[in-house]
Amino acid sequence: MTPPINSTDPAKGSTSISLSQSADPRRVLADRVEQMYGQMPLGIAGSFIISVIAAYELREGRYVEIVAFWAGLVVLLTAASIGLYWSFNRSATKASEAAQWLRWLAISALANGATWGFAGAVFFPSHADEQQVFLAFLLAGMVAGGVPIYAVSWPVYALYAAGIVFPFTYVLGTFGNRLFAEIALLVPAFYAMNVGVAWRLNQVFDSGYRLRHAYGKLTEDYTALNQRLEQQLVELDEARRQVEASGRKLVLFAERSPIAVFEFDVEGRILTVNPSAETLFGYAANEVIGRIGIDTLFAAAIQEDVRERWRKLIDARAPVIGLRALSTRRDGADITCEWSLTPLVNTENSVISVIVQGRDITQQLEAERMKQEFTSTLSHELRTPLTSIIGSLQLINSGVMGDIEKDTLELTTIAERNAQRLLDLINDILDVEKIESGKLTLMIEALELGELVTESLTLNRAFAERFKVKLVAAGELRAVKVSADRKRVLQVMTNLLSNAAKFSEAGTAVEVTIEIADSDTVRVAVHDTGPGIPENFRNRIFGRFAQADMSHTRQMGGTGLGLAICKRLIELMGGKIGFSDRAGGGTTFWFELPHHD
Ligand code: ADP
Repeated sequence: MTPPINSTDPAKGSTSISLSQSADPRRVLADRVEQMYGQMPLGIAGSFIISVIAAYELREGRYVEIVAFWAGLVVLLTAASIGLYWSFNRSATKASEAAQWLRWLAISALANGATWGFAGAVFFPSHADEQQVFLAFLLAGMVAGGVPIYAVSWPVYALYAAGIVFPFTYVLGTFGNRLFAEIALLVPAFYAMNVGVAWRLNQVFDSGYRLRHAYGKLTEDYTALNQRLEQQLVELDEARRQVEASGRKLVLFAERSPIAVFEFDVEGRILTVNPSAETLFGYAANEVIGRIGIDTLFAAAIQEDVRERWRKLIDARAPVIGLRALSTRRDGADITCEWSLTPLVNTENSVISVIVQGRDITQQLEAERMKQEFTSTLSHELRTPLTSIIGSLQLINSGVMGDIEKDTLELTTIAERNAQRLLDLINDILDVEKIESGKLTLMIEALELGELVTESLTLNRAFAERFKVKLVAAGELRAVKVSADRKRVLQVMTNLLSNAAKFSEAGTAVEVTIEIADSDTVRVAVHDTGPGIPENFRNRIFGRFAQADMSHTRQMGGTGLGLAICKRLIELMGGKIGFSDRAGGGTTFWFELPHHD
């Protein structure tokens, strides 16, 4: 995200910042020092040349040695000044140590001024009139000439000029001449004036530098602002492109959508219609646009009801989902649609329009009705006669109706077994149907699990014996109570036991255990010695009509519905079901039920 631009907003930012705020004083000082050092060569050269001229003129006086000493002083000072200038230019601390460099410069300026002060003090009394005029003129020139050189820092100038003026004033004052004594009074005044000018110039320079820095900063700020603006423009452009793309996507979605899509305005008038809506209702878009949607699309009998929902939707700005309603097509045919009405709300929380989507569910409803019809046919028309067929065959096979021939008995036994399988399948399908349509009601009660498991073992023993498999409880079954539906737990047990018996090797035993899984749940486990569950079948085993693709399984028959029903039943009772490999071969199927306190 780009940071907000307020900080550089021209309206309240940089342009109104005072110069002292925007210019960093250290950078201003560094600039001033740089400027003063920049002028040093001019000062050094000027001072040196004038010194040479002065030495030449004064050499004719009485104290040649002193002139020579002074000239030596000048040479030394010049060399020291050049050294200082050279060090400054090579220094890496010009800016960071500006104050220190200024102090060095001040010392050099004082030394320079004092050298001239020395000349005044020493040579003025010892020379003749013209030379005195020359010297006075020279010193005045030096004081005045120092202003442009040193005025960037007035204290430096003040030191320099003091070095010249004070010894000279002393000499003038003590010379014994009235005129000179008067001049001696004027010189400090001139000095003060010059320092004043230097101070003023110092200020001018200072604000000049501040201005320069402020301007530099302003330019930087504007550059940054421009860059940010440019970046924001790029982002805006990108956002615009994205909005356009999603707009196009939306139009495409609506156009290609297999469901009918309308847009209604807040008064419920149709604004747009997609091709699927045209096909579904038989109207061309231009026939319905502008018409009241509810009057046009919904059957007269339910219009009032839909209007009521519409009013609520507009008031609450909340979508209506899954509204099933009868509609009348343009050709008069009735269809049932499932509608969702979604209000489009703007940032002020007012509804702009409402997207109305309708899916024709007439055929789906018809299919549901047929399925129900089929289920009830299964239940009544098939199960009832099948039960009586099985009953009759059982009577015949048991010999109650008299002896029958062995060949006939074989056939009637096959008939009974297959009729029973058919009945099992029908019962399983009815169970699945009941569970999935939510029509299964459970009778949850406190059950003594140990007793229930023992009962299930007894009930399934005969079946297991067919496979020469024993059903046994491993050790004492714990006396523990669970909350569950008795009939359904027995059904689950029967399924797990019969599977275990079917898949175990002949001559082995299927063991059943009861464990307390944790304080809230009790686990029943059925351990078999079968072939185990193939790896690629494990995640499908609880699905409907799931059977492992094994020749063995085929021989065993079954519907592939048993475990699917078990899973749904156990989950309806608030439990869990699963399986694991049994050490040494075989499988353990287990289920957990809530403990009853
Ligand atoms: P059905 O036994 O009626 O075919 P189930 O849903 O009870 O249906 O079982 C589905 C499949 O799971 C069985 O066909 C079999 O392949 C596998 N299966 C179930 N129990 C066991 C078991 N104890 N050992 C090995 N395979 C089993």
